[in-house]
Amino acid sequence: MSSPFPVVRGRLRSPAASDNAPRSIPGSRSCIEMMFADLHLHTNFSDGTYAPEELAGRASETKLAAVALTDHDTVEGCARMAAACARVGLEFIPATELTAEVDGNELHLLGYFVDTENPRLLEEMGRFQRVRQNRIREMVTRLNQLDIPLHVDAVFAVANCRSPGRPHVARALVMGGFCSNLDEAFERFLKKSRPAWVPKFKMSALEAIALIHQADGLAVMAHPGLNRADEIIPGLVGAGLDGLECFHTKHTATVGEHYVRLAKEFGLLLTGGSDCHGLSTGKPLIGTVKLPYEYVERLKAAHACRHSNAAAPNTALPTAL
Ligand code: AMP
Ligand code: ZN
Ligand code: FE
Ligand code: FE
Repeated sequence: MSSPFPVVRGRLRSPAASDNAPRSIPGSRSCIEMMFADLHLHTNFSDGTYAPEELAGRASETKLAAVALTDHDTVEGCARMAAACARVGLEFIPATELTAEVDGNELHLLGYFVDTENPRLLEEMGRFQRVRQNRIREMVTRLNQLDIPLHVDAVFAVANCRSPGRPHVARALVMGGFCSNLDEAFERFLKKSRPAWVPKFKMSALEAIALIHQADGLAVMAHPGLNRADEIIPGLVGAGLDGLECFHTKHTATVGEHYVRLAKEFGLLLTGGSDCHGLSTGKPLIGTVKLPYEYVERLKAAHACRHSNAAAPNTALPTAL
């Protein structure tokens, strides 16, 4: 099934003149009039702070030509984001970011062009969302045991979405006066192995890739430079991984170049994005990673190719899911 969202061809624009000067990305053209994309963005449908309309407005101000919405374990924001992008002449790619696991490593998989009405995807996401909500309850219980009288309803009120996460607990801790800022909340309580940290259920990466594929999406490993576990990549490629997010706010230029090399070696697509969570980390990151539009074209071509090849081996789900 094709995407239900209008695809508006991005306008050719001049590069941003202001603070978000394009990073030097290998393979980009030095043409003055270039188009750029940011393919990793979050809204308040997960742990970002911007509503879709505000995010689309900011993307337009940043002179981006195309954006993808990659909220954690949900595609609920995609309809509003698509409409908002259409209004400002931005190309929109529906997507999501799934948390998965392989060989004990947590990794994030971006699913681009997923059919946002795919029943299996929605069913599994509903399950992930319930796990997230129960995890919030467990984290609050642990905080209460530490004599932090935070009420779980305060966290759910801050989150106001079906896909809550640790940043919402951190914000509620700050709003309740229990921590002075988000960093302190993570450092004292929420980081891995801190007293209120609760492990999260994770599906296997192989299942996540298959889930994305059966929803007509392309599976891309997010920010591989944060994993520092390149040894897992060949296995993911064997399971049908389509791409690597080579360009990410937390990747240095050297790390980005490393993953460009790996992507080329494995014949994978290259993507990039800022991982903007709005104001949750202080400064909005949207547009700070500028992916040359040619990579969006390649992504679209790969997706179109997947359509025309219904017999592709990656479309079947393993029975264990
Ligand atoms: P969760 O999915 O609930 O485990 O939360 C993960 C999110 O928390 C990530 O997307 C980050 O945005 C945020 N996060 C993780 N570690 C930190 C940290 N040390 N400080 C601030 N935010 C963090
Ligand atoms: Zn996040
Ligand atoms: Fe991530
Ligand atoms: Fe993200």
